[in-house]
Amino acid sequence: MAEFTMELNDEQKEVRDWIHGFAADVIRPVAAEWDEREETPWPVIQEAAKIGLYSLDFYAQQFFDPTGLGIPMTMEELFWGDAGIALSIVGTGLAAVGVLANGTEEQIGTWVPQMYGDVDDVKVAAFCSSEPDAGSDVSAMRTHAVYDEAKDEWVLNGTKTWATNGGIANVHVVVAVVDPEAGSKGHASFIIPPNTPGLSQGQKFKKHGIRASHTAEVVLENVRVPGHCLLGGKDKLDERLARARERAKSGERVKNAAMATFEASRPAVGAMAVGTARAAYEEALEYAKTRSQFGRPIIDNQGVAFQLADMRTQIDAARLLVWRASWMATAGKKFENAEGSMSKLFASEVAKKVTAQAVQILGGNGFTREYPVERMHRDAAIYTIFEGTSEIQRLVIARTLSGMPIR
Ligand SMILES: Cc1cc2nc3c(=O)[nH]c(=O)nc-3n(C[C@H](O)[C@H](O)[C@H](O)COP(=O)(O)OP(=O)(O)OC[C@H]3O[C@@H](n4cnc5c(N)ncnc54)[C@H](O)[C@@H]3O)c2cc1C
Repeated sequence: MAEFTMELNDEQKEVRDWIHGFAADVIRPVAAEWDEREETPWPVIQEAAKIGLYSLDFYAQQFFDPTGLGIPMTMEELFWGDAGIALSIVGTGLAAVGVLANGTEEQIGTWVPQMYGDVDDVKVAAFCSSEPDAGSDVSAMRTHAVYDEAKDEWVLNGTKTWATNGGIANVHVVVAVVDPEAGSKGHASFIIPPNTPGLSQGQKFKKHGIRASHTAEVVLENVRVPGHCLLGGKDKLDERLARARERAKSGERVKNAAMATFEASRPAVGAMAVGTARAAYEEALEYAKTRSQFGRPIIDNQGVAFQLADMRTQIDAARLLVWRASWMATAGKKFENAEGSMSKLFASEVAKKVTAQAVQILGGNGFTREYPVERMHRDAAIYTIFEGTSEIQRLVIARTLSGMPIR
């Protein structure tokens, strides 16, 4: 484990500058266009694949960076470029992490490469957990998987919603109920291989922000997958369910997995928010120095300059929380105070606030699509919603701090 330091090492700086270059030269120039088109920017993903920025190898390298800063640094730079396009590039990673976290080595080796495809034929993947009646409350999930022992197949039925890349993915990872008695402990994740009959895309959502990222319903009608598509395998599932039943019998409180599962991945979302916030702040700073009213640049007014001072201070504070949590996750430190949730809560709220301030500093121009802060402000609204809303982060933090079942 590397010593923690606030300074990126030379190798990290090189990678950061390389990602920044891609964000500035390839993502930024087409950000407004893909936002208007509301479509997956396949050509940009392909460009990223060509230089190795869209690949399992690259994300694995960043994930295993011993300082823990590889992933937050990557996210911040890509989302600085544009949030919608960046999510199209990193959305596959959410599904890949689902397999890395629960899959066997064989499953990881088989399915994760198929999620990315190759340079000439790039693919994306989707992670499908949320449902129309099960958003924050994952224990209300209804999609179920039943084991057909005679054929060694699982049969899945249900409707997933809000799935990033849902329906256009080569590989879908679907969370389903396998034991309704066991609450959220009775869930399991399944790989749905490419072209499996019964899986279809439902409604594609027209969104407020991150419009270059595809979000849709995924409908599962008698979807049959081989036994080996259950992540982790049947023996592990049976053991886990037996343990959950024992605990339930003894009255032991089973922690709501839905609320805690993403604790380690939340700093990555915080880093995305830092990227968007920083982008809006930079636009506002530049504008405030060049726009003149009353015969002087608007930044000459404390009312504007102090806003910029607060924006920058909050962005830096958010990054520090994100880096702390990312380092803790890599160092194997326990999140005793829900530090992962803290970082996501703070950074996402900062992004919303800072992008709104940037719109204000740009005045009428900030309100038009001629200037990117308008898009950044719409994009920032997602961070307080997905991977657990701000309210759910506060719930996780408050419960962790107090040990009380706060509702
Ligand atoms: C663009 C986008 C992409 C997404 N991508 C994915 C994806 O790839 N895969 C996936 O599985 N999901 C995805 N999601 C789903 C996302 O994680 C959910 O939208 C989120 O968890 C909130 O669920 P909900 O929308 O049903 O809101 P609800 O749970 O209905 O919440 C509505 C409001 O009630 C509040 N609330 C709920 N419960 C409580 C409580 N106990 N205390 C206080 N307040 C509460 C919430 O904070 C929120 O303000 C995505 C969503 C969006 C919008």
